[in-house]
Amino acid sequence: MGLRPNLLTRRTAGVATSTLALLLSTAAVGVVPAASAFSAAPAGVCAEPADAHARVAKGGHAKLDPNHLTAKQVRDREADLAAAQRERANFRTGAVAPLATVTIPVVVHVIQENSTRAGGNIPDSLITQQISVLNQAYAGSTGGAATAFSFQLTKINRVTNTSWYPIVQGSSAERSMKTSLRTGGKNTLNMYLGELSDGLLGWATFPKRTLDKMDGVVVLNESLPGGSATNYNQGDTGTHEIGHWLNLYHTFQGGCSGSGDSVSDTPAEASPAYECPTGRDTCSTTGKDPITNFMDYTYDSCMYQFTAGQASRMLTAWNAYRAA
Ligand SMILES: [Zn+2]
Repeated sequence: MGLRPNLLTRRTAGVATSTLALLLSTAAVGVVPAASAFSAAPAGVCAEPADAHARVAKGGHAKLDPNHLTAKQVRDREADLAAAQRERANFRTGAVAPLATVTIPVVVHVIQENSTRAGGNIPDSLITQQISVLNQAYAGSTGGAATAFSFQLTKINRVTNTSWYPIVQGSSAERSMKTSLRTGGKNTLNMYLGELSDGLLGWATFPKRTLDKMDGVVVLNESLPGGSATNYNQGDTGTHEIGHWLNLYHTFQGGCSGSGDSVSDTPAEASPAYECPTGRDTCSTTGKDPITNFMDYTYDSCMYQFTAGQASRMLTAWNAYRAA
């Protein structure tokens, strides 16, 4: 129940055909530093938005999700986005046009406890399949809106360090790991794979005006396509966390009231949806719950789309925060 055979077929076919193009021979794509002109936040910005957001499985510790944002945190983030857009508009006068398509360089850090699979040593093939899943999801080829984004694997960095394994959300070890390993400018996606604390599937940072060593996404290694995380092993944790990295909120952000997730074409939703509850409708406002959206908490087999509004929001945020 809830499975989407057509989706799975499309996805599997896509993985098979596009993986070849993503072998590691693409290794030396340049990592472009962010424009230094943008590295300083203007005076008067004092509220630091919450900058991490987890995905949790059903039965997981939702209260540990570091970014069930409060209404104030959302207001602060929206104000910061508007300020970043103004800043860019001034910076850009007579200069470079905002980007309409974006290829994101991806550096994958495989955190390992030892050389066994159980110790985090996942094969390269899972990583290349993850990149394929991202490219399909963000191209709209699994059924949603096409976004501006594609992903290019530039490096797999394998690190054996028992003090970083499992990766514990919010820990000093997480900070140490990212401070040691993060590479590239604001446009570079650093993805950290490992066993995670508290049964989390992943978490991510939202974009900020200042480049921060914490910037990036953390994803459960066995959630990659073909991994062992039952119901969460088609790669959509990666898709979801990168959605946050590109400034998307959960579809259930704000519940039934107010501006919700700040995207107009995702119907409001009172709370996270788990598994695949077809027909769920928790708000009296128009539209059933967006359970098939990548920014909900449903099974990977249930989620397959971003909306046009989310695609637009991500590109706006890219040009405000991450474009060089
Ligand atoms: Zn999330």
